[in-house]
Amino acid sequence: MKRRLTNFLALLPPGVKCRFPPLLIFLLVAVLYLFGTFDSIERELVDTRFRVVTRPATGDLVIVMIDPRSISELRTWPWPRNFHAEIVEILLKAGARRVAFDVEFGAPSTPEADRRFAQALAAAKEKVVLPVFAQIQSSADGSNLVLSGPLRAFARHVQVASINTRPAEDGMIRRMTVRQPWANRTVPTMSVRLAGREEAPFEMFNIDYGIDRHSIPRISYVDVLRGRFDPEEIAGKQFLIGATAIELGDQMPVPIAKSVPGVFVQGLAFESLAQDRALQGIGTAPVLALVFFVAALFGGIYSALSWRRALALTLAGSIFMLLMSTGVQAVWPVLLDSSPVILVLILLFAYSVVRRVDQQAFRLLLQGSELRRTNAMMKSVVDNTFDGIVIIKQKGSIRTANAAVARIFGYGEDELIDQELSLLIPEITQDNDAPLESILLVDAGPRELGGQRKDGSSFSLELTVTEMNFDDEQMFVGIVRDVTERKIYQDKLEYQAVHDALTGLPNRALLNDRLEHDLHLAKRENKPLAILPLDLDCFKEVNDTLGHHIGDLLLKMVAERLTVPLRDTDTIARFGGDEFAILLPAVSDQYQAQAVARRIIESLKSPFLLDKIELEVGVSVGIAMYPEHAETPARLIQAADVAMYMAKKAGTGLAEYDADKDRSSVRQLTVTGDLRQAIEGNELAIVFQPKIDLATGRAAGGEVLSRWVHPEHGFISPDEFIELAEQTGLIRSLTVWMFNTALRSLSEWQRLGLGMAMSVNISARNLHERDLPEVIEGLVNEWKIDREFLTLEITESAIMIDPEQAMSTIQRLDELGMRLSIDDFGTGYSSLSYLKRLPVDELKIDKTFVMNMTEDKSDEVIVRSTIDLAHNLGLKVVAEGVEEAAHAKRLKELGCELGQGYYFARPMPIAEFTTWLEESPWGYGATDITKRAAAGD
Ligand code: C2E
Ligand code: CA
Ligand code: CA
Repeated sequence: MKRRLTNFLALLPPGVKCRFPPLLIFLLVAVLYLFGTFDSIERELVDTRFRVVTRPATGDLVIVMIDPRSISELRTWPWPRNFHAEIVEILLKAGARRVAFDVEFGAPSTPEADRRFAQALAAAKEKVVLPVFAQIQSSADGSNLVLSGPLRAFARHVQVASINTRPAEDGMIRRMTVRQPWANRTVPTMSVRLAGREEAPFEMFNIDYGIDRHSIPRISYVDVLRGRFDPEEIAGKQFLIGATAIELGDQMPVPIAKSVPGVFVQGLAFESLAQDRALQGIGTAPVLALVFFVAALFGGIYSALSWRRALALTLAGSIFMLLMSTGVQAVWPVLLDSSPVILVLILLFAYSVVRRVDQQAFRLLLQGSELRRTNAMMKSVVDNTFDGIVIIKQKGSIRTANAAVARIFGYGEDELIDQELSLLIPEITQDNDAPLESILLVDAGPRELGGQRKDGSSFSLELTVTEMNFDDEQMFVGIVRDVTERKIYQDKLEYQAVHDALTGLPNRALLNDRLEHDLHLAKRENKPLAILPLDLDCFKEVNDTLGHHIGDLLLKMVAERLTVPLRDTDTIARFGGDEFAILLPAVSDQYQAQAVARRIIESLKSPFLLDKIELEVGVSVGIAMYPEHAETPARLIQAADVAMYMAKKAGTGLAEYDADKDRSSVRQLTVTGDLRQAIEGNELAIVFQPKIDLATGRAAGGEVLSRWVHPEHGFISPDEFIELAEQTGLIRSLTVWMFNTALRSLSEWQRLGLGMAMSVNISARNLHERDLPEVIEGLVNEWKIDREFLTLEITESAIMIDPEQAMSTIQRLDELGMRLSIDDFGTGYSSLSYLKRLPVDELKIDKTFVMNMTEDKSDEVIVRSTIDLAHNLGLKVVAEGVEEAAHAKRLKELGCELGQGYYFARPMPIAEFTTWLEESPWGYGATDITKRAAAGD
């Protein structure tokens, strides 16, 4: 069954499901309504509306009151019926349309009076209405219905009307029937009769108590009898005679006024009919329809509203309903039940609130479980976290500690509770002077402290403490981390930072450190100190010919042998490459230092066996002493380097520093350091020397050359510092710097459309750098250089040092589309076969041949044959060292394409080149070389 219901629900459109509670509400209200639950409240509401919607009487019906005044003035009671006869006669005579009696006529009075009354009735010709009514009389043997009506004698000439009333459930007279059964027939009720609505389409109607009963005209019985009235007010009206005196007991319970004489109730009923205010209930079906409509319409809306809005809607809806029913009642004789609709609104509101509360409760329930879950999660996080979390009480004992703390310190989890924190971290002990706070909260960040495990072993830990107030109790939360591994790692890093990875020896940094330290001690104790740098003699060759692997192997073996003749206090360090240095802090004098040096040389004498190759390695050792040679670490090392350099140069293997002997080497050494700085600090400059197209006499490009003005030593020739750079490995960065700087200018020229080519020099050492082609290509791409305009100059001798290596580099440069030129041609004894194979574009005849060609015949021969050779190989020729016009003239005659030399232009700052182009005769203005030469220019 249940299953079928859900199936059924599933078939409904989705909206229907949510209408389900409103539907229930509708059904509930409908049932209540049908069972009359709303009747009493509706009655109250109707009465309230009566108070609000009032109207006056028509005045068509006048009440003739049998009031206390009449009774007292007429003195007799009960009245003889001749009074009634007289009244009828007087009223009809005055023009009354009809005279009705709400007075009992069932019992005979005196025969004379009855006759008199009967006569009057007969004369009235049915203009008199007499009442009939059914009455329940209770007696000893139960209750029985007694019908009472006018005596036969009276009934003949009159109309009858029922004056029966039936009170509503609340005991009030609210309704009147249109007809009443009486004897074997039905008679109209009094008000119906008087209003002439015998044919009314309803059987019953509600009296409109909104009609003001005080506005019903009235007159005292006795006043009529005595003729005390204005005949004008009688004519054309109907009269209803009835008791108003309370003593006569004809009072009826009615709404609003509570108790009113029956005759006025009849009067109001008459007015209701006469004014078309015979109120009818709107009917069950319309009310239920309205209820359903409201339930359906608002059922959906309520769920979307906040409770405040829902309440407002309920109030507004209710007020609207009340106003509407009032308005309807005011305009039409219709009673509209409003309370069912109001109840629907209230129930919908209540339902929406309840549902919301329900949802909230449900959500709270969920949140509650969420909270519990979060708590459990937090606890498990705390328990499982890698870091130890320990909560410390104010007195320094442990309140709780998580599993990690126990694990870190090797305790069982519960063992730690209430133990002193100093058990774990001995450094944290509380004495009376310093409160725990001041010990724990030293600074915000983590602190490194020593921890003690249960087994007594100690380790490094990191402690972070924060203060926490919990339930007014001050506590500290400590996060403990075992940093043993990190320490080890750190130590390792520190070790690596100051040791050489290959040999495991201290590096330069560590040696400097120790030197500084030992020098300090030596100064204090007034003792000498020695430093001995050493350099293997043929290491470069080993590396180049046998490979890095063998080179590394050799270095390791050297390192091992070097340590043997040393004491523990001595430090042997590797500076990189094949450079080592030994620090002897406890040396007694220079002789002892020399002895150590000799032992070292000795230890390296026997050949090294490397991969089946026997190698003999020479070594050069320098000696510098404190205090004789220098007093600061830096100067001491410098002096030692000079000494070693001298040893190398002299081939002695061993040399002590001699300040007088070699000043230049000092300069060379200082200059080396400065050069590195100059390259890095952009202190070098480039100059540009134009090349002139000898055929046209116009500049066609030129060569960039580096310049260095040393802050101390002034101008240093490139021949000197380039060699230095090559020796120290600085040449790589120098070449890169050179390209970068030169290509910037070249790209600028390209942008200006100058069409000038540029040559850059490549050192022999650069050719050994395998990645050189890629580095150059990268820069060329970076500056977006058109490769046609860039030429790389490689000296002939550079090619001849290692032809194979040079060949492969040159080939790769060629593949990248670079123009290549062989520099200083004629000095390198290159074989023709090589030249043929080289993918070069240009030959530069060395300046030494050109400079002398006009004086020295053999030089001229060399120049001429070189030009021919180059042309045969399809190469262009550049002559450098063109110092005179005669050179230029002769070169042109020999068919040399380009000339470079002081005759045309000295190297100039590159920024000046564009100006030079404008101003020089070799610039834009075409110059005939032959003519100029002839003119002896
Ligand atoms: P180089 O490549 O043969 O450069 C030509 C040298 O001849 C330049 O000397 C230049 O000033 C000089 N020279 C030019 N015309 C004449 C002349 O008519 N008569 C005389 N006597 N000399 C002339 P610089 O600038 O002193 O360069 C010397 C060498 O230094 C260069 O010779 C080159 O091998 C090297 N060099 C200069 N700059 C660089 C550079 O940036 N990288 C490399 N790897 N080497 C460079
Ligand atoms: Ca050159
Ligand atoms: Ca040259």
